[in-house]
Amino acid sequence: MIANHVTLSHIRAARERIAAKVERTPTALSPSLSGHLGAPVYLKLEHRQTTGSFKLRGASNAIASLNAEEKARGVVAASTGNHGRALAHAAKLEGMRATICMSRRVPQNKLDEIRRLGAEIRIVGNSQDDAQQEVDRLVAEEGLVMLPPFDHPGIIAGQGTLGLEIIEQVADAALVLVPLSGGGLAAGVTAAVKGVSPSTKVIGVSMARGAAMKASLNAGHPVLVEELPTLADSLGGGIGLNNRLTFSMCRDLIDDAILLDEGEIAAGIRHAYEQEREIVEGAGAVGIAAVLSGKVRASGPTVLILSGRNIDMTLHRKVVCGAAIEENAA
Ligand SMILES: *Cc1c(COP(=O)(O)O)cnc(C)c1O
Repeated sequence: MIANHVTLSHIRAARERIAAKVERTPTALSPSLSGHLGAPVYLKLEHRQTTGSFKLRGASNAIASLNAEEKARGVVAASTGNHGRALAHAAKLEGMRATICMSRRVPQNKLDEIRRLGAEIRIVGNSQDDAQQEVDRLVAEEGLVMLPPFDHPGIIAGQGTLGLEIIEQVADAALVLVPLSGGGLAAGVTAAVKGVSPSTKVIGVSMARGAAMKASLNAGHPVLVEELPTLADSLGGGIGLNNRLTFSMCRDLIDDAILLDEGEIAAGIRHAYEQEREIVEGAGAVGIAAVLSGKVRASGPTVLILSGRNIDMTLHRKVVCGAAIEENAA
């Protein structure tokens, strides 16, 4: 195994560590998507995970892996999205201090949610970069431990526990579709799935607007892409020019990465609601959207990860009513 890869044994250890802290989410057959694809399609209902996304797996594992001295110092991150939420929840369970740094532009509802989970909040500057500078300052001056959203071995191993469940629940899976942004989920899930079932294929799915990992895989090294508004907001952001783990793992392990436009993602959210009776956010709908788009070919039993449900409900209502997508994303 390549040195800078998280492996099946790390992921199995993570599962032991977090078993009591996360839900084992169910998998459900989708008759309508199976009809579309021409092969059985299963939905991994991870949007029902505590905190509304799989991010709790990585956050719980990374926190549980800290030593007593690190636990006493507390953790810090700049994410106001699903990672920040998961970190706040996991730290609270452990009786630890979590600090989430955010810019003044962060909407009140996100701020309230993270505060409700018991995290300390630092509001600085007007951008994500300003918030990250505050994180760096807290690490340097107050000794807080930074836990990043994807490029960290404990985070990747935690997300990989989702892959172990998939291959236990659908042992004959020929294909797994994984939402792809920074690649922590894709790297962990692929290492787990292929570790147990080497012939299973894994395809990453991103939005066309600002797909940093896809652009980096094409270039052969991490590149910057312009961040654009998208319905799949949890898939936004770069992979880091100094990426240590997820770029090489995605390059070496995943079979392909495909891109979807905003209309396709909206169709995925709408299908989840109307046919599957599930509320998912844009990032959680890309697997469904990929099947509906015809960009995936049937090769046998296929598993889609519904990765999160934290969508603004006003936006959700607009999308399921079929309102113009450009307006929603802006
Ligand atoms: C973070 C996130 C992703 C992407 O995960 P990466 O590890 O950054 O690739 C997908 N879906 C949801 C709901 C997320 O919160």
